[in-house]
Amino acid sequence: MKIAHADVLVTSPGRNFVTLRITTDDGVTGLGDATLNGRELAVVSYLRDHVAPLLVGRDAHQIEDTWQYLYRGAYWRRGPVTMTAIAAVDVALWDIKAKVAGLPLYQLLGGASRTGALAYGHASGFDLEALFDSIREHLALGYRAVRIQTGVPGLDQVYGVATSTGIGQRYDYEPAQPRAYPSEEEWDTRAYLRHLPSVFEAVRNEFGPELPLLHDGHHRMTPIQAAQLGKALEPYDLFWLEDCTPAENPEALRPVRQHTTTPLAIGEIFNSVVDYRTLIGEQLIDYVRSAITHAGGITAMRRLLDFAAQYQIKSGMHGPTDVSPVGMAAALHLDLAIHNFGIQEYMRHSPATLEVFRTSYTFSGGLLHPGNNPGIGVDYDEDAAARFPYEPAYLPVSRLTDGTVHDW
Ligand SMILES: [Mg+2]
Repeated sequence: MKIAHADVLVTSPGRNFVTLRITTDDGVTGLGDATLNGRELAVVSYLRDHVAPLLVGRDAHQIEDTWQYLYRGAYWRRGPVTMTAIAAVDVALWDIKAKVAGLPLYQLLGGASRTGALAYGHASGFDLEALFDSIREHLALGYRAVRIQTGVPGLDQVYGVATSTGIGQRYDYEPAQPRAYPSEEEWDTRAYLRHLPSVFEAVRNEFGPELPLLHDGHHRMTPIQAAQLGKALEPYDLFWLEDCTPAENPEALRPVRQHTTTPLAIGEIFNSVVDYRTLIGEQLIDYVRSAITHAGGITAMRRLLDFAAQYQIKSGMHGPTDVSPVGMAAALHLDLAIHNFGIQEYMRHSPATLEVFRTSYTFSGGLLHPGNNPGIGVDYDEDAAARFPYEPAYLPVSRLTDGTVHDW
């Protein structure tokens, strides 16, 4: 079964998505997500100009060999563009292999280890009233775990919550807005640190001790600030504190770990198991946040999560709306199969997105399931996709109150 062609598909049903479609000489197709938020066309070129021509004529069944061929064969290793491109090829080939086998992909990964994958949603509100409404809406939708993001007194806009004067009280949810230049937001870490524990206290008082609560610090704290926040949040029993410090400095997690028992999650901007060697080897984290889409595909994520399992570290795969339904479906097959599953981030895609990507996965009783269609269970509607042409879009940039560029 040879690869006949590999096509790169770009569409923007509410936000930009890049998809790789591999077709075999006997007409079987497989899909892989190649979406890198705000840098989409770099992956398009990497795939179209440098990868697709190399795939033609290769055996579609040789997934491991193709992964190594693209990773080692490029000489230049790792990086988000490279690893997103490799991930798209890897997932498309797993999709093809499972379709040929006539099985949902999770069966080829060892079969189901659980009935479904516990999902968490994004509850947010600029003030407590709006936040509580959002939590109630998520509970009504069936969510059994929620991430809490809220406004900070003195700041007009905060990550995970829309501006109060702009597009509404919260993002539901896409922070990358179509525009030629990124928007800019102001940030004050001390104001945030003073305010956040009072939010968690109020949420626990309103919703009780059972509901798993998560929070994302978006890489904005120094190690000692993160340690202070972790300690301050201990009474509220977080499921995890995410991305508390800049991810490229794994040693920063040592002082955080020494000072707090709040569980830590990191890794959504990582793209390789190499990025985790210190974090996993020293047991500095509790959850691995990478997405299949950005970390080299199912082949690479399975290796990473097997490594993490030796240290009782669990999965918490990235699942914002810039992971396409193809990337989400791939994650759900792995979530169902691995032993050390923790939780799955699940922001619902827009109706327009789901017109282009026809999915078989389900969300019921707080659990996601990938469905039982052969392959990963996603079809791409090219006619629908053609109605949504690419638009440049960027994530915001963050500045401190004195104008210094900060981590967004
Ligand atoms: Mg995050």
